[in-house]
Amino acid sequence: MTVDNILRGLKRFQKKVYPKHRELFHKLALQQRPTALFITCADSRIDPCLLTQTKPGELFLCRVIGNIVPRYPESIGGVSATIEYAVGVLGVPDVIVCGHTDCGVMKGVLNPEALKPLANVSAWLAHAQPAREALAKRDSDLGDPEFLLALTERNVIEQLKNLQTHPAVAARLEQRNLKLYGWVYDIGRGIVTTYSSRRQKFIRVRTVKPRKMARARK
Ligand SMILES: [Zn+2]
Repeated sequence: MTVDNILRGLKRFQKKVYPKHRELFHKLALQQRPTALFITCADSRIDPCLLTQTKPGELFLCRVIGNIVPRYPESIGGVSATIEYAVGVLGVPDVIVCGHTDCGVMKGVLNPEALKPLANVSAWLAHAQPAREALAKRDSDLGDPEFLLALTERNVIEQLKNLQTHPAVAARLEQRNLKLYGWVYDIGRGIVTTYSSRRQKFIRVRTVKPRKMARARK
């Protein structure tokens, strides 16, 4: 696969997709009102809009390896600025932090030696250490795939905690008009689980019927 493949896709978009949704794109040319900030790993296998069947303009995306949200103000940069803009300026009502199965970054947390030559990645992974430390106290008999999933889930929980240290998020939570969700996307099975703070574990996301069906029932 080369860049030609991407250029072919662009041509297809301009010839077939854009004309079909011209009105939407004209509307979006002047404004955006996204319904959620979606923070997920940069992994190429995750397509948030495909997964949630959302249209352009609906999700404000923050893609960053390991779906890591450094605590404020430890690492002011692209992630903190994206959060501040989405929550403080655009006023999104929901924030979703979405981890995923087979995450290379989570594997790196388990094997930091392998990443030592990568100074930036290693430094970034330090933000996932609390998740690793939280699990160290657990039953060490866990097999590798289970442990990797447990680490992925724990990492999402830790990043949700970090998210709350950001002033724009803390202010909106105080006003009770912002909701935070922690997801884990199972790439191979197309399943999404969400963290239930009440049950202290990840459970299958309760999906909502497509809009058209809901209207038909009225
Ligand atoms: Zn990943």
